[in-house]
Amino acid sequence: CGIVGYVGNRPALGIVLDGLRRLEYRGYDSAGVAIVDRALLTEKRAGKLANLEKAVADGGGAGLGDGTTGIGHTRWATHGGPTDRNAHPHRSQDGRVAVIHNGIIENFGRLRAELESRGVEFTSDTDSECAAHLLAEELAALGDAQAPQERLAEAMRRVCRRLDGAFTLLAVDVQAPGAVVGARRNSPLVVGRGRGENYLASDVSAFIEHTREAVELGQDQVVLITADAIEITDFDGNPAQGHDYHIDWDS
Ligand code: GLU
Repeated sequence: CGIVGYVGNRPALGIVLDGLRRLEYRGYDSAGVAIVDRALLTEKRAGKLANLEKAVADGGGAGLGDGTTGIGHTRWATHGGPTDRNAHPHRSQDGRVAVIHNGIIENFGRLRAELESRGVEFTSDTDSECAAHLLAEELAALGDAQAPQERLAEAMRRVCRRLDGAFTLLAVDVQAPGAVVGARRNSPLVVGRGRGENYLASDVSAFIEHTREAVELGQDQVVLITADAIEITDFDGNPAQGHDYHIDWDS
């Protein structure tokens, strides 16, 4: 339902949680965050953001507070009940990537059967989880030939080419710290351009207190954000452009 991503030099957790709070008006049944520090850490809970915040506070020493790359999600369940395990982010089996998703992956049943036949064990009932496992498979297949951040973007493009339906996806990879990759088809995704930091969100209200320079992604585009760069391509990897604009309404 609501999606937020951040890369910069400030701790991501508070920025991501604030962004999720700004998207609360849309309604949701669960919430979660993933932060990349030296490790990839996730926390997710059914119910209000307060439940997630309590879980984060209780987990205190786990280091969620330090990473400067993060993603967050508020879920409106379509596939699988509103439970902790069905909340996003979803992680790959090796724990390497975390993925959040808005929308519906229509061919998830076939993709899930395919992944299970290769030995992948699912830990949720969502359509979304298959994207995390597919991403991990594509990353593994790409090996070490590319720089980690480029590899993450390429793996996301390969996953998107296999998905039917409506999706906004964000993902982080512990091997590509300092980057968040996003993708969209039939579901909105906007970049917020900051100074030495960049944002991603399903709705500009999530980052409007930080920047009013926005880039709306076009249909079937993938974007890689780092602290200093925003790189947009189509699903085949051809350079593409979003729609740049200035947000001039009052928040
Ligand atoms: N279809 C996904 C799920 O049920 C995403 C729902 C959403 O857009 O929040 O988990």
